[in-house]
Amino acid sequence: STKLNQAMGIDGSNILAESLKKQGVEYVFGIVGIPVIETSLAFQAAGLKYVGMRNEQAACYAAQAIGYLTGKPGVCLAVSGPGLLHCIGGMANAQVNCWPLLVIAGSCPEDHEGIGGFQEWLQVESSRMYCKYAARPPSPRLIPLHVEKAVRLASVGRPGVAYLDMPATLLTAEAEEDKVPLDYYNAGPIKLAYPDPTLVDQAVDLLSKAERPLIIVGKGAAYGRAEEAVRKLVENTKIPFLPTPMGKGVVPDESKQCVASARTQALLKADVILLLGARLNWMLHFGRPPRYSPDVKVIQVDISPEELHNSIKSEVAIYSDIKPFVEALTRKLAEKKFTLQPAKNSWWQTLQEKQKKNAEFVEAQANDKTVPLNYYAVFKAVQANIPKDSIIVSEGANTMDIGRGILLNNQPRHRLDAGTFGTMGVGPGFAIAAAMWCRDYAPNKRVICVEGDSAFGFSGMEIETMFRYKLPVIIIIVNNNGIYSGFDKNTMQEIQSYGDVAQSTPPTALSTEVRYEKMMEMFGETGHLCRTVEEIEAAIKKAVKVVDKPSIINILINPQSNRKPQTFNWLTESKL
Ligand code: ADP
Ligand code: MG
Repeated sequence: STKLNQAMGIDGSNILAESLKKQGVEYVFGIVGIPVIETSLAFQAAGLKYVGMRNEQAACYAAQAIGYLTGKPGVCLAVSGPGLLHCIGGMANAQVNCWPLLVIAGSCPEDHEGIGGFQEWLQVESSRMYCKYAARPPSPRLIPLHVEKAVRLASVGRPGVAYLDMPATLLTAEAEEDKVPLDYYNAGPIKLAYPDPTLVDQAVDLLSKAERPLIIVGKGAAYGRAEEAVRKLVENTKIPFLPTPMGKGVVPDESKQCVASARTQALLKADVILLLGARLNWMLHFGRPPRYSPDVKVIQVDISPEELHNSIKSEVAIYSDIKPFVEALTRKLAEKKFTLQPAKNSWWQTLQEKQKKNAEFVEAQANDKTVPLNYYAVFKAVQANIPKDSIIVSEGANTMDIGRGILLNNQPRHRLDAGTFGTMGVGPGFAIAAAMWCRDYAPNKRVICVEGDSAFGFSGMEIETMFRYKLPVIIIIVNNNGIYSGFDKNTMQEIQSYGDVAQSTPPTALSTEVRYEKMMEMFGETGHLCRTVEEIEAAIKKAVKVVDKPSIINILINPQSNRKPQTFNWLTESKL
């Protein structure tokens, strides 16, 4: 067997592999080099699925996406020094999003430390800020203990990141197999946290008296697999709901109770808000005026007690898993025969009027097929042609914001985007993880990766990873030649004609009409360049038939295309 090096010896790499297996880890994403090449082979020998990527940051994004999709942390494996440091952005992203992740990096041999060892770096210290747990197992015999703890801490309570540091000397150190607890315990998932019944009663009371109740469904509800419970609550009570970006699909976007297209009004006018697994941070405008009524009463449910009362004082603050709380709430509301009558209810009428107005604006834009196309027309064509149960990965400023309203999710955990940290560059890594998950658990499901041209640039080389692992990700690049608003060819030529290009090129500009689809030619394939709705439709139809490799659809849009004017200027209402 590969794990037996000598007589009855086992090395650190193989102990690590067996320990991860024992704790239920299934996927590893990484980049190998000294000193973790043997480690990656040991992982494969132990039956862990290893995906080699092109940048540690993207590997780290992939590992956290698989954590969100499966509820079990994925591992990101990196080399020492720069390898681990490239993971830091990914670790912060997972920690801020509350997603489980285990990062493991090799590090410089312990006897070279302090005298300038190869890629020597203070790796445990560097990771600590981005982690719930960071440690270096002190001996081969103690690796199983630290793996158990790392996996458990990443997964339970509010999920997050754990880091394990593996010096080259530890990875190669031999231990006698019968002295290593390879059969270390796996405690399994802990029981859900149940709500205090008096708090459920208070929530029932508040909702029954509300004139304008609203449910906000966050990605905590998605991570907590509360979809069945939340759907039933919404169906029974007919209370309008708003999903956060990654809360989309917990209750289908197509549900009549979804008031996403009247978001501003819903937040502004609601008198009682039931907050299910979402934080009142910038994404929800801190729960404060001018975006909310100063008198709004919040019923907050969170698995993290530290989050309760954050930014504003909640009227009812419930430390509970979402699923058991919502089940209890739904039962009690049913006993009271609580249900809104959308046809007669004035709150519902207000929201429906707003929804209608917004839908008219979007329809008018979407039906304007003038070339170069606007965002709305592009997304309408995309939505009409992709399989309805696809996992949608999305990033880029306008691309993500406008796309969110038009690309629908009717299943939970089917949207992965820049998230709470607003991180660009996550798309290809997330898409690779989602495609690996589809291969194993939902073979006919497709992954659609909708990228702004700037966002795609951060991790575009992961296209090679997709080819190597035969992952049929459909990459759609909405290309406006720039960051935020784009630049047209003439403007750029004029700017550059003034002379020193370095001085005059606007920082938000990218090269015009970049042929990203030609990256397909690096693999002997052809991509799609689209300027019209018909071309987009034809390209997606072709791409959907491809099952063993990625596709790139490069859509050149009007650089001046923008989003609908907003009532509140995004992020700039900062005087609280
Ligand atoms: P969103 O981006 O959708 O607003 P956030 O990431 O801000 O969501 O918030 C998710 C919240 O959900 C976090 O505060 C987290 O502690 C909480 N959470 C995660 N899982 C559960 C669960 N199973 N039950 C209750 N709350 C949860
Ligand atoms: Mg752009």
